[in-house]
Amino acid sequence: MYNVVIIGSGCAGLTAAIYAARANLTPLVIDGHEPGGQLSLTTHVENFPGFPDGIMGPELIENMRKQAAKFGTEFKAGVLTDVDLTQRPFKIVAGNETYETKALIIAAGASARLIGLPNERELIGHGVSTCATCDGYFFRGRPIGVVGGGDSAMEEANFLSRYASKVHLIHRRNEFRASKIMIDRARANEKIEFVTPAVVDEIVAKDGSVEGVRLRNPESNETTEIAVHGLFVAIGHDPNTKVLKGKLEMDANGYLIAKHGSLTKIPGVFIAGDVQDHRYRQAITAAGSGCMAAIDAEKFLEGHTE
Ligand code: NAP
Repeated sequence: MYNVVIIGSGCAGLTAAIYAARANLTPLVIDGHEPGGQLSLTTHVENFPGFPDGIMGPELIENMRKQAAKFGTEFKAGVLTDVDLTQRPFKIVAGNETYETKALIIAAGASARLIGLPNERELIGHGVSTCATCDGYFFRGRPIGVVGGGDSAMEEANFLSRYASKVHLIHRRNEFRASKIMIDRARANEKIEFVTPAVVDEIVAKDGSVEGVRLRNPESNETTEIAVHGLFVAIGHDPNTKVLKGKLEMDANGYLIAKHGSLTKIPGVFIAGDVQDHRYRQAITAAGSGCMAAIDAEKFLEGHTE
């Protein structure tokens, strides 16, 4: 029986673990399908306070993990497959294991969205990618495409320009959601060509590898094909809440809804990070909400010692 089980090992989950562990609650963190969360898939993080020269995402998250372990956090690999929140202790199923816990913090994060083209999923690892840091190296000297118009797309395009011969930044509108500084940086990069407005109608593949994309101008309906060997999809994320459907309150997009702070309608169940935040989605806000969830869990356990 655990005092606190934390689902997810990203910025929110690990911050919750640091706080819960320092409160002597010996929390268990269940890693999830993407250990380290989105920071482990990023490059240079320049906006996390305390790092004037920036820090690499994987290093930042590894430091948080070490810090959580130092104070007594236990870690288990596994993906949440079921939960019983109808009575306490709550039952958590991950892989072949079932855990019982007095309090639960859900910090399961959000996962990369795909465009929804028929061959997109099967081409992951064969030219289609959602992680520039993981796969950029494979496209040295080759042309690639990045889909999206947010900060992620700008960041990935800039990062990939180190390797690729050319980066086509493909976005469905002429306006961008990304911050000005990120757009300016991409525009100043000679290797990046903005292709707007354009939607990807087809990923052209031969012998199981990406060879190009067929694009359509949504205003004129004109189509063109460009040769790319890699297609990096950077069009946002969906919250990892499928297992929680019908068990916790969520909005139309699947984001969990807090009653107040990190509190849900179920006493003893707390939420933190991107799983409940589609607005800010920053490492620092995820960390802040993880801290709140741990403090709320600690307060809850003080009043429920059974
Ligand atoms: P985002 O801001 O939600 O942007 C998603 C982009 O993908 C939008 O431009 C959207 O187009 C496009 N899109 C969505 N669905 C699409 C589809 N089916 N087909 C084609 N295009 C599609 O997501 P994000 O860029 O991942 O950023 C998420 C959050 O993380 C933001 O708050 C961002 O500031 C933050 N972030 C920060 C940094 C940084 O500061 N270094 C780096 C990365 C991310 P429309 O605009 O037309 O909807």
